[in-house]
Amino acid sequence: MPGHVDILIIGGGAAGIAAARRLAGGRHSFLLLEAGDRLGGRAFTQSLAGMPLDLGCGWLHSADRNPWVELGEAEGWTVDKTPPAWREQWQEIGFSRAEQREAMAAFEAFDKRLREETPASDRAADALDPDCRWNSWLEALSGYINGAELGCLSIADYLAYDDADSDVNWRLPDGYGALIAASGADLPVRLGAPVTTIDRRTTPLRATGPWGAVTADRIIIAVPTTVLAEERLRFDPPLLEKVEAAADLPLGLANKAFLLLDRPEPFEPDTQLLGDPHDPVTGSYYLRPFARQVIECFFGGAGARSLEAEGQGAAADFATEQLVGLLGSDIRRRLTPLAETRWGADPLFGGSYSHALPGKADARARLAAPVENRIFFAGEACSAIDFSTAHGAYATGVAAAEAVLASLS
Ligand SMILES: Cc1cc2nc3c(=O)[nH]c(=O)nc-3n(C[C@H](O)[C@H](O)[C@H](O)COP(=O)(O)OP(=O)(O)OC[C@H]3O[C@@H](n4cnc5c(N)ncnc54)[C@H](O)[C@@H]3O)c2cc1C
Repeated sequence: MPGHVDILIIGGGAAGIAAARRLAGGRHSFLLLEAGDRLGGRAFTQSLAGMPLDLGCGWLHSADRNPWVELGEAEGWTVDKTPPAWREQWQEIGFSRAEQREAMAAFEAFDKRLREETPASDRAADALDPDCRWNSWLEALSGYINGAELGCLSIADYLAYDDADSDVNWRLPDGYGALIAASGADLPVRLGAPVTTIDRRTTPLRATGPWGAVTADRIIIAVPTTVLAEERLRFDPPLLEKVEAAADLPLGLANKAFLLLDRPEPFEPDTQLLGDPHDPVTGSYYLRPFARQVIECFFGGAGARSLEAEGQGAAADFATEQLVGLLGSDIRRRLTPLAETRWGADPLFGGSYSHALPGKADARARLAAPVENRIFFAGEACSAIDFSTAHGAYATGVAAAEAVLASLS
């Protein structure tokens, strides 16, 4: 570990890696410090039962303008362009086509109210029609999309994302997490190096942790908002405006469970089942992604939180019960839990992706603003329009690296 670098990057997720890649080959020395034992952060592909499974991000959202697509294709990664199955219930099981149309119309009416009759509160729940019978379904959707209930969601923030999203969604059969981690392979990185304090009373700045200390002229902070809001990484003297901005951008919760599926043939590949369209905490089940022998179960918001609180195994059990309800009791014997995430319980993350609290959409710009032209911020939460995604994180990393270079020139 060098004692001094020109530029220190803290956090080895998509944003930190993108910043490091932008600096690589330039004339400034730099180092990336990552608290965990791997690169990628919330992008994490694990090989289970011979399948590369994405425990974090899986979809290349806004794929037609997503820099990870270009990067992956340039490196020879296969990009799968099969459209997602989210909008259709496989074989109408438990959710008839007529009900799906009705629910979609309720979504469109809700979206119109968000835009045209925007509640002064900026709280998405205030745009619900109290008499609509699809409100539970709308809550479930918010859980998946935002990781949070509509009651704690800023309308302005949600619409900023929605307006920018190109609605083109692709995947990487070998794993989004694998691509992001591989893209950081040749960079100067130290793993297992959590930064706990940044001393900004001195020039150069000084970052310390249980591993020691390093000084740097510029620092790029690319850690999740929970780490800043809870001051697990703190500044001396404190940067209260950053703690506040990070607290206004909490990480919602989304979790996955993977169930190995024995005798998968009757189930059509790349199809989806929603567990219960009238339950706001329902799971959503992606059957046989890439025609694999697996079901990817997805939980969001309140549903994800309650299952995570119940402990390891609760999500797989809940998923199994919902699938038995839809497909019959024979399915139970054919399912074997493979993996289950608990992103909220992991102290390096404390959640899955950020959303702005009502009235706090400006927190993204407040968080992203550099301090004293020497401390810079990156990470999905800093993106004005592509927050909560790996491509948004990438763009903030590149932007922070360019701002650092400009400050040094
Ligand atoms: C279940 C789930 C599904 C998702 N699905 C999608 C999807 O389909 N498409 C999509 O685009 N996005 C998705 N996302 C979101 C996406 O994964 C994230 O937005 C993105 O990866 C965040 O990148 P980042 O670099 O901002 O943060 P992170 O990936 O969180 O990286 C921050 C890094 O900082 C490290 N760190 C924390 N504290 C310290 C410290 N004190 N010192 C040093 N290092 C520290 C962490 O270990 C971590 O590696 C999903 C996320 C989850 C959890």
